[in-house]
Amino acid sequence: MSIRPREYKSRDLRYVPVDPLALTVRLGDLVLGWVENISEHGVLIATRAQDLTAGEILDSLSLCWRAEEIELPRATVARVTRATQSPNEVRLSRVACSFAEAPELALKLLGPAIKPAAYITGELKREIKNAHDSEPPPQRDIRDFADSGTPRLLDKCESFYAYMRSLQSTGHYQSLYRATLTTPLDHRVSIYNPARNREEDFVCFDSNSYLGLHVHPRVVEATARAVKEFGYGTPSAQLLSGTSRHLRELEETISSFHERKDTVIFSSGYAANVGTITALVGRNDIGIADQYSHTSIHDACGWANPKQLRTFPHCDYEALDGILTRMLAVKPSAGRLVVSDGVFSMHGSIADLPSLRRIADAHDATLMVDEAHSTGVLGQNGRGLEEHFGCVGAIDVLMGTFSKAPGTVGGYVCGDEELITYLRFFANSGLFSAALPAALCAGLKVAFEVMANDPEPRERLWQNVEWLAPALEDAGLNVSAPESPILTVFIGNTNLLWQVSRELYDRGVKCGNVCFPAVPPGEGILRISVNARHTREDLARCVESIREVVADHDLLHRSKGEISEMGERYSNPDALAEIA
Ligand code: PMP
Repeated sequence: MSIRPREYKSRDLRYVPVDPLALTVRLGDLVLGWVENISEHGVLIATRAQDLTAGEILDSLSLCWRAEEIELPRATVARVTRATQSPNEVRLSRVACSFAEAPELALKLLGPAIKPAAYITGELKREIKNAHDSEPPPQRDIRDFADSGTPRLLDKCESFYAYMRSLQSTGHYQSLYRATLTTPLDHRVSIYNPARNREEDFVCFDSNSYLGLHVHPRVVEATARAVKEFGYGTPSAQLLSGTSRHLRELEETISSFHERKDTVIFSSGYAANVGTITALVGRNDIGIADQYSHTSIHDACGWANPKQLRTFPHCDYEALDGILTRMLAVKPSAGRLVVSDGVFSMHGSIADLPSLRRIADAHDATLMVDEAHSTGVLGQNGRGLEEHFGCVGAIDVLMGTFSKAPGTVGGYVCGDEELITYLRFFANSGLFSAALPAALCAGLKVAFEVMANDPEPRERLWQNVEWLAPALEDAGLNVSAPESPILTVFIGNTNLLWQVSRELYDRGVKCGNVCFPAVPPGEGILRISVNARHTREDLARCVESIREVVADHDLLHRSKGEISEMGERYSNPDALAEIA
């Protein structure tokens, strides 16, 4: 194997083990731990040993793979990261060692035991901080992979895959993405840990089922009954044979829940936004959305009319007014759709509906609001933003999802009969897509009835939010205002967010890790979704675990500016030395 295959130009190309547990590191006779990754510069070792210190010289390092022992060059301990305490009491440190010379022979001998994992953020280079005084490569984010600049389209897939593998080798991927749940998604979950081949227990703040309706006995029973009656799918489009009795009943239930004339149902919230906006906004029209609105809204506005500016600063309605005035001065005949989330999915803030309505009226614009995170949650009876502000009927195009409080999949739009009839025939994502299965419609009908008639889960939800938000603040965390069940803790720098999330994960707490592209670069947040099923014990554990992890990084009682400044050190190798 050549150390620098042609396609990897990065100076810190590293390799990860094909089987993470099969490549162990020995120090003399002692089994030190496992290789997380190895490069011509150094090796990163996961170890239970607590007594290695930076600067220590390691003369007798070797690797064991199958029956072979492969000697490594002399190495110096460059950095030891703090041991983390996992729920099962295993303490693992990560020890970065730099080699005195490139381990060319070892890399050749390892052959099929390792594979390239290049294009990480420069993290290893910083951790190893070795005598090679070359610049670290720039921090990478997902934008860097969208265009490989080569005629071969699959090139970008390959470099992204290598990047993802490198996240796996450091354990970040497992704590951030595609955690495999072996129990229902609830306030407590079990997650399969492939490295240890076992399930581990977590408290979970990463579910959108705010009221716990996805496991509500009456909802589950209604769904099960309809599965027996109708089978598990309704595989035809709604305009053909996909309109079951249950789908019709669900349309009526939702129309009456939101006090509208009619409702059209889509197989996802994403499809509802894309179908609706592209059906309404033509090539000569303007669709303008709050900058923090859901991606499906931005995608749809862009697809509908790629040439026009189509966002306004978050909840800045004066700016919206100004942008509309300027755009319409140039194009007075353009149709205009103003779009906003009701509750913003990543930040938990809420839109000011009266202001939106006022600006829309001033410009004779149609107002669409995505009520994904407000339905069932906001308002005395859970009817969402309109009930919260006491202005039922203020939204022209009221969109919602089934994937939050209702607890399953699907989306809907309700409004006047004219609007809904038009969407049935012009919203391609509904028109050319199979109908929501009858059984889900049957369960959803009951879920909406529970939301409308049983205030108890909503009361518990808000009691939890009102307990947790001040507790996080009192613990010294930079937490968002409790406007909705989505609370955020500001972390800023992406590398720091990953580290914090990883340490939280090791403590058995699963919450959302939100970085670019879901939020602007450098504005990473821990996203804590509270639900009605969380117990006081779950909430207390959340506060305590986040407090401990954030305190370890010296980020308690700090402003966003200070946190961002501290986070910058995670992109800057010189300052990192100060932290270590
Ligand atoms: N709108 C908002 C505000 C959302 O948060 C989401 C999902 N996160 C969607 C739309 C898309 O909904 P779905 O998951 O049902 O496709």
